[in-house]
Amino acid sequence: MPAKTINDIVALCKRRGFIFTGSEIYGGLGGAYDYGPYGVELMRNLRDAWWNAMIYSRNDVEGLDAAQISNRLMWKYSGHEGGFSDPLVECKKCGARMRQDKMADPTKCDNCGSAEISEPRAYQLMMGLSIGATADGAINAYLRPETATTTYVNFKNVLDARPHKLPFGIAQMGKAFRNEISPRGFVFRMREFEQAEMQYFVNPAEDEKYFNMWRDARLAWWTDVLGIPASSLRITPHDKLAHYAKAAVDIEYEFPDGFDEVEGIHNRQDFDLGSHTKGQKEFNIQANVMENKDSTVKLSYSDPQSGENFIPFVIETAMGLNRAMLAVMHNAYTDEDLGDGKSRLVLKLRPKLAPVKAAVIPLARNVPELLEIATNIENDLRKLAIGRIELENSGNIGKNYRRHDEIGTPVCITVDHQTIEDGTVTLRLRDTMEQRRVPVADVPSAVLEIINA
Ligand code: ATP
Repeated sequence: MPAKTINDIVALCKRRGFIFTGSEIYGGLGGAYDYGPYGVELMRNLRDAWWNAMIYSRNDVEGLDAAQISNRLMWKYSGHEGGFSDPLVECKKCGARMRQDKMADPTKCDNCGSAEISEPRAYQLMMGLSIGATADGAINAYLRPETATTTYVNFKNVLDARPHKLPFGIAQMGKAFRNEISPRGFVFRMREFEQAEMQYFVNPAEDEKYFNMWRDARLAWWTDVLGIPASSLRITPHDKLAHYAKAAVDIEYEFPDGFDEVEGIHNRQDFDLGSHTKGQKEFNIQANVMENKDSTVKLSYSDPQSGENFIPFVIETAMGLNRAMLAVMHNAYTDEDLGDGKSRLVLKLRPKLAPVKAAVIPLARNVPELLEIATNIENDLRKLAIGRIELENSGNIGKNYRRHDEIGTPVCITVDHQTIEDGTVTLRLRDTMEQRRVPVADVPSAVLEIINA
C-alpha cells in the first residue's frame, strides 16, 4: 500500500531524520525546512543523478554555480522586479490569504468557503536584501527567485571559456527564494527551495525540435533514472502561456492529492538573452523585452558558417529538487502486509538513490569477534566509495532491519557465530527480504552488484 497522505511521508521524514521543520524549537518558519542525515544523502544522490544526465552523459551542456545574491538590475531587466508578483486575495471572514490563480474557485475561500473575498493585490515574490556596510535597511539587492536568470547573464562568459556551436546548454543547481504567500504541501511549496535548471540555446529555426527533444528526455529521466512508473507521471501543456513563452509543458507527478507540477519545460524564445543584452536594436528580437540601457555585454551568437550574429532562443528545463525528493519518497513508500496482522514499512528506493547503501550488523552487541569481522567488512565497503555505509552495534537485529527498511537501505549484511566458524555472512535484501549466505570476501562485489542493478 502506498502512502495515503503526505502526512505519512512527513511523519517518516521526521522520525527517521530526512526532513525537519525549519527553526522548529522556536515554533518554525513557514516554508523553510531543514534536511537531516538521510535527507541530505537522498538530495545529494538526486543532484548526482541530474548532473550525470545533464553534464557527464553529454558533451553539449556546461555546468555553472552562480551567486545567490545579485545586482538589482538583473531582476529589473528579467522582469521579476516589476512583474514577478502573484495576485493575492484575503478572506474577510477567516483572514486566510490565497494566491488567486491557485484557488479551487476564485469566488470562494479555500479555507472556510466564504464568498467574502478581497480584491486581488500584487505581491512581490522576491525576497529583498539590504547589502553592504552602508546598508540602511532599504532593499538594494535580491535573493534569486530562480537559477535561470543567473545563467542567462553568464551566457557570454561560458561561451568564451568553452566555445560551442549551437545548440548547447548551461545547467545549474542551487537555492532559490520566493516569498510564497501560502507555503503548503510540506516541501512542495517552500520559501527556500532548490532548483535544477538547464538552459539550452538554440537557433530560432530549430526551437520546436529541441523543445520536443528535451520534453521527451526529461520524462525519460523521471522514469528510467528515478524509477517512477510512467503511469504516475503526465505531461500537461500550460493553458495560459507566459508572455515570453512560445510553448510550455509541466511534468506532473501523481501525489496523494492528485497530479501536480514537478518540472517545467519551456520555449522562452529570445526573451532572456534579448532582455539582458546590450545593443538590443542591432538584433531582431522577437519577444517583447524592456529597453535595456544598463547591460554591458552583447548576449548574441555568431554563426561560424553564415556569419550571422543573432540572439539564440532558449529551451529551459526547470525542476525542483525538493519536489523531486518528495515524489521519489512517495513513490517508494510501501506499507507491506506480511500476514498474521504484521506489516512493515519499506522505502523501495532505487539503490543509487538510497541514503545508506549497506548496513553491517553483528547479531549480538559488543562481541569482540563479531565486531571485528563487521568492522573489516565495513572498511572494505567504504573502499568502494559508493556512499554511506553504516555499522550497527546494537544487537537488536529485528529493530535494525526495520530501521533500514524504512530508510531504504538496499542490503544488510549480518555477521553471526557461523561467520566465525565458516567465514560466511547473511546478505538480506530489502525488497524481497531474501536472505543468502556468502563468503566475507565476496561481500563487496555482491553489494556492488546490488547497488548498480
Ligand atoms: P508553481 O506554478 O508551482 O508556482 P512555477 O511554475 O512557478 O511553480 P518554476 O518557476 O517553473 O515553477 O520553477 C521550476 C520548478 O521549481 C517547479 O517545477 C518546481 O518543481 C520548483 N518550485 C517552484 N516553486 C517552488 C516552491 N515554492 N517550493 C518548492 N519548489 C518549487
